[in-house]
Order: sequence, then structure tokens, then C-alpha cells
Amino acid sequence: MARDNSGKKPMFERLALIGIGLIGSSISHAARRAGVVGEIVCSALTPEECERAQALGLVTKAYANPAEAVKGADLVILCTPVGAFKEVAEAIGPHLENGAIVSDVGSVKAAAVRDIAPSIPEGVHFIAGHPIAGTEQSGPDAGFVTLFDGRWCVLTPAPDADPEKLAKLEDFWRSLGCKVELMSPEHHDMVLAITSHVPHLIAYNIVNTAAHLERVTDSEVIKFSAAGFRDFTRIAASDPVMWRDVFLNNKDAVLEMLGRFSEDLIELQRAIRFGDGEKLQRLFTDARAIRRGIIQAGQDTAQPDFGRSAATVRQGSD
Ligand code: NAP
Repeated sequence: MARDNSGKKPMFERLALIGIGLIGSSISHAARRAGVVGEIVCSALTPEECERAQALGLVTKAYANPAEAVKGADLVILCTPVGAFKEVAEAIGPHLENGAIVSDVGSVKAAAVRDIAPSIPEGVHFIAGHPIAGTEQSGPDAGFVTLFDGRWCVLTPAPDADPEKLAKLEDFWRSLGCKVELMSPEHHDMVLAITSHVPHLIAYNIVNTAAHLERVTDSEVIKFSAAGFRDFTRIAASDPVMWRDVFLNNKDAVLEMLGRFSEDLIELQRAIRFGDGEKLQRLFTDARAIRRGIIQAGQDTAQPDFGRSAATVRQGSD
């Protein structure tokens, strides 16, 4: 599988993906495109997913036991929901190869470090990470080769991380199409709380509120659903287990951002109540400028459907 045709040695001999859902399978697709790994193996929770990963050609071998999968691997990436990290790290810890790099893709970083680092033996290099790219789909069939193209991957190395291993992991993510940024786990969690976690919570909440209305208005919510609501329903279709674990593990930052959000919402509510059109227009104009900034930074397109035509429904969960 996936050797670099130029005859050069691949960056990593054996990549072990622990969990092979949307993110794990996309890593397999992108790493094979780049020719940066010799062999890819995985472990998955269910026999069906092990079989599916092999049938799709994502891996040469799929193991039920993660401890088996990491044997001989010089790069191990945990791609399970955040809530499984502690158990997985404890299971693989004694079986990791000396000199290997261990990383993860969890959407929360302080909790990932808390749950994984204690099980990493001396001589193995743990560097936490989060590719900020995703969709609302799950499972090994959901992955695709371009998921990481042009997207950010945040790495949150410990201050004493081995610089050579860190540089190698950065190169790996760049080869998958990402731009790489380094920051502390705590800073990551604060930034993602407002850019990703609270927006998902709002989406889950508005869809549920509308669903309760729907029962009394005879399907009108679905029938007349306008673009704004439809976008919320797409985000709210994201994996319930993944998002449960995000909120359980980024509690403080999410509560802090929710507090600010609530204050700003009350300001809007007051402006509507008191007919303060000037204030409403000013706040909406400020928000519109943020959208322009996102487009200028290449993180979305300016097309009226947010660039999400049927063929490109690819982004929006991370
Ligand atoms: P996914 O499609 O649901 O895949 C999760 C994988 O983990 C599946 O292979 C699943 O196996 C396995 N798994 C679940 N519980 C496990 C356990 N206790 N032990 C071992 N394996 C287990 O999820 P995903 O979207 O790829 O997300 C994976 C990670 O990436 C999460 O930590 C998430 O925070 C992060 N992330 C997600 C996105 C996104 O937009 N989806 C973006 C960036 C980062 P079974 O199916 O057999 O249960």
C-alpha cells in the first residue's frame, strides 16, 4: 500500500489509526495520496467497522484490540471520540514502540492531554493535535481525500516536546493538505469553544425548539424551512457521541463563552423590544464584516449557498 513511487523512504513506516470513522478514514485517504506512509493499520470497536475499513482499502489490517494495532507503528493517531481516549491510551501504552510519535485528533485538547499523557511511556513522544476540518457524517465511508486541504491543524505540544518529532508531525499534517499552527491546549479550547462548540450547541438547541413547535404546527417548520434553519439542521445532524464528549470535556471554556453569548443575546432582545433599529443595524453590520473576513482567509466561499452545493457538502463540523 501507499509507498512513495519516487523510491524515497516514506515519512512513517507504519501508521496505526485507533478509530477509523470520518477523521481516521480521511487521514488514510490523504496519507496514501501523499505517499507518506509505508503501511496503514487500524483498530475499531466493532467487527463490522474492522471489515468495512479493510473492504474500503483504508488499511491493510484492522484489529479489534488497539494494543495489537500499535505494535511496530512509528506513528499512532487516536481517532476515537474524546471520551474514549483514557481507556485507549491505557490499553496501548505498554505496547508502544520506543521512539514512536503518538497523537490524536480530538476536538478538545486539555482533556486529551489529561487523559492520554499519563499512559505514554518514556521514549515515546506524545503531541496532541486537532485538524479543524469535518462534516456532519460519521464512519469509515464518510472519509474523503480532500477533507484537510487548506484547513488548519492545531498542534498543542508540551513545552518540552522533542523538536524533531514535532517538526515531523507538522510535516505529516502539511503533506495531508493542512496548514499547521501551534498553541497551548487551554488556548485551543477557548478558541474552539466560540468558533465551533457553542455554534453546535446553538444548532442543537434551535432545531429541538423548532421540533417542539413542529408538533403543534403540523410540519410547517419543515415545509417552510428557510436557508438559515436548514443550515442549523445540517450542523445538528453531527455525531451525538462526539459532541456529548466535547461538551463534557470542554466544560469551563464553553460555559464562559455561553455566558458572553447570553449577554449579547439579551442586548439584541432589548434592541428588538425597544425598537432600536440603529443598534440592530450596527450589530448586523459588524457581523457581516466577520463573514467577509472568513471568505478572505479562504475558509469558505462567497457563493450564496455557502459553497455547499450537493457535490460539495463537505464542511461544517469540526
Ligand atoms: P466517527 O466517524 O464516529 O468515528 C469514531 C471512531 O472511533 C469509530 O471507528 C468508532 O468505532 C471508534 N470508537 C468509538 N468509541 C470507541 C472506543 N471506546 N474505543 C475504540 N474505538 C472507538 O468520529 P469522527 O468524526 O471521525 O471523530 C473522531 C475524533 O475526531 C473525535 O475525537 C472528534 O472530536 C475529532 N474530530 C471530529 C471532527 C468532525 O467534524 N467529525 C473534526 C475534527 C476532529 P465504531 O464505529 O466501531 O464504534
